[in-house]
Amino acid sequence: MIFYINDNYIFKTKKKGKNINLIFKNNCIKNFNKNYIEVLNDNNIITPKCNFCNSDIDIEIEYTINENIINIYGVTFKNYYCYGKNESCSGRLFNPNSVDFVSKAYKLDRESALKKIKSRNKSPFYKENHKTIEEYSNYQKRNLDFFMNKFGDDGFNKYEIYLEKLKFGTSFDGFCKKNQNVDIDLLKNEWKIIQNKKDNSSLEYFISICDNESDAIELFKEKIKKTKNDLNSYISKYGIDEGTKKYNNKIEKYKNSMIEYYKSDRIKTTSYSQEASTFFDNLIIELNKINIFNNCNYKYKENEIGIYNEDSKTCYFYDFYIPEYNLIIEYNGLRYHPKTLNDDFKNIGDKDIKYFYNRDKMKMELAIKNGFKYLIVWEDDNEIEKIIKKIINICTH
Ligand SMILES: [Zn+2]
Repeated sequence: MIFYINDNYIFKTKKKGKNINLIFKNNCIKNFNKNYIEVLNDNNIITPKCNFCNSDIDIEIEYTINENIINIYGVTFKNYYCYGKNESCSGRLFNPNSVDFVSKAYKLDRESALKKIKSRNKSPFYKENHKTIEEYSNYQKRNLDFFMNKFGDDGFNKYEIYLEKLKFGTSFDGFCKKNQNVDIDLLKNEWKIIQNKKDNSSLEYFISICDNESDAIELFKEKIKKTKNDLNSYISKYGIDEGTKKYNNKIEKYKNSMIEYYKSDRIKTTSYSQEASTFFDNLIIELNKINIFNNCNYKYKENEIGIYNEDSKTCYFYDFYIPEYNLIIEYNGLRYHPKTLNDDFKNIGDKDIKYFYNRDKMKMELAIKNGFKYLIVWEDDNEIEKIIKKIINICTH
């Protein structure tokens, strides 16, 4: 069988030894007025269907290439699941690492399904995937040190991502366990609603619909790439100026929705420290006595501002903000905010001094990178008059 190469139609290529594998996307062969599945079927190549929803699934095509002509001689596919690309696929209701899911997706008995899960799963959650018990228990701790050792400078962001993932990380199995007395059909519906609410361009979303992390990351990247292409499509539709504007608006909306999400979540779970609150109440009273701060719209408490960090896909909130001077002020109590890594500091939960130190550092860098001025007020150095001098100094220079 022969296809002509056209960039538009090639989904992605992978080099496997001597052969190149082409992965076509459904509907990619517009030239034939058919999708690739139909073209393959016409050529007596049977293509797999999703075992949950019977829709077509992506496949890899083995081919040789000669002067822009692709000669296809084989088709391979990884499994019988559409990866939730069909939005109404019932496979999406399952935890992809569960025996229920794998036995149905691959048409296996439960014992073979369990074997398959274990064999393919390089997940560090399995004891078998570690050389020693010590390594396994270290992994289980999954503390900041672990991420710092593994990813170096990127460790902190990776750790934040991991913590976020834990927050989202509820499988359908877990959901059922939490609601043991509720009818299973009700739970399935409820779960579906929760799934749909999840932001479908986050990494977490792809992790929730994929068999393994590397597939999830690949799909996630694909999605990001598509989002980038959106800019081109906006430009071709509306011209450069209007298109860019519309595209930026869209991204801005997306970010704001993330900020809203994290903010509402945060207000529910944490409260603004009483000490910080008193400090800022007093600060406002004093600032209002000074000419240049008359009528400033201070943002604090439930109006805290948030900045979205692209790297960790997380929104961070700041104690106090003076929009008129673009100045962020953070009030750092010593219990949660070490001044140096050598401070006498008691761990909080499983988080140690490095976590809090790095978090503060990252927050400051994030704010400065986004063009904000930044001032930290320390609990043991919070005399209002002194702080006001500092603020005036920053705002008038
Ligand atoms: Zn499906």
